[in-house]
Amino acid sequence: MSDADGAPSPARDLGARLAERIAAEGPISLAAFMSEALFDPRAGYYATRDPIGAGADYVTAPEVSQMFGELIGVWAVHCWREMGEPDAFDLVELGPGRGVMMADLLRAARIRPGFLAAAQVTLVEASPALQAVQAGVLASAPIGLRWSVRLETVARGRPLILIANEFLDCLPVRQFVRLADGWRERLVGLAPEDAGRLAFTFAAAPASSPEIALLPETLREAPEGAIVETRPGVGPLLDELGRRLNAQPGRALFVDYGPAESEPGDTFQAIRAHASKDPLGAPGERDLTARVDFAELAREARSRGLAVAGPMAQGRWLAALGLEARAEALIRARPRSRSAIVAQARRIAGPQTMGELFKALCVSSPSLPPPVGFAHG
Ligand code: SAH
Repeated sequence: MSDADGAPSPARDLGARLAERIAAEGPISLAAFMSEALFDPRAGYYATRDPIGAGADYVTAPEVSQMFGELIGVWAVHCWREMGEPDAFDLVELGPGRGVMMADLLRAARIRPGFLAAAQVTLVEASPALQAVQAGVLASAPIGLRWSVRLETVARGRPLILIANEFLDCLPVRQFVRLADGWRERLVGLAPEDAGRLAFTFAAAPASSPEIALLPETLREAPEGAIVETRPGVGPLLDELGRRLNAQPGRALFVDYGPAESEPGDTFQAIRAHASKDPLGAPGERDLTARVDFAELAREARSRGLAVAGPMAQGRWLAALGLEARAEALIRARPRSRSAIVAQARRIAGPQTMGELFKALCVSSPSLPPPVGFAHG
């Protein structure tokens, strides 16, 4: 396919390629659609571009304010102390986006030179385009950095502090719908009136027992019409964390949007230029996410022998970590930016903005004490 001026358009080509594949092989799962649309090497949304920031498609908490990454830096230093100040540990970030959170974290961690001397930083990033952006943003980082496309390839055997902001929400989801005759998977097929256009459809056969077992237990008896989402990538990720955190002391912090309890609902969404769009339209050109089920994440972590703190609303969690004191310190240093700093703090912690919708959850080695910030969660 090509644009009107004749230039090739890899994104339109991706839509056409998916339509051809579906015409030949039948409908595909939503998870298969999401991974192609986000990570197709030629046209995937993350694989090919830098979508994050004020002028781009969406803004994340570390992009709103340096205070977010700084508080996570102070939190990470606490974790290191609770782990007995190991003189070598892995500091891993999953899905670092533009690399801003790690930059702010490392700057804040300068208060503890021992932490920086012990940390081996690895950025786990699947997108070559974003790896390049991260290398630029982190060019003056106080310590050396490594990259990996998967957590599994980061060498094991050392204590671990892992952080991930808005990483889980873009891991692909499958959807199941409760019909009169039981659960059925919701798939991506072709529109009946236009075979070039992708549209939702249902699997021909009811979901199998192993598929139904993937659904959160509390939702398996949901009423007819209910849609329930599952995220196949979470199990393997927690298997990997289970192996690491049961062998060495460590913690993994996940911050994302979603409810504390499992709820039914179709939350698969596309964002482009800060506006909501048809999630099946223009694959490769729109950010695709679905909310995180924190109850399920906690249950899966506990079933692997790990300790769980949270989920706790982002606003209360940041307050417990000292957001107010951090904002006051910044204002003292830059009095003329007072109103901007106050507005940033409200945006990342206010109940109407990110403070309630987003949650923090920490998964830890069972031997460690409860992590700071979550004590009253
Ligand atoms: N944490 C950043 C970016 C969030 S966007 C922030 O808060 O601003 C999601 C990030 O996760 C992107 O960097 C994306 O490329 C990366 N990502 C998504 N799925 C991934 C996967 N399976 N493996 C590695 N990185 C992934």
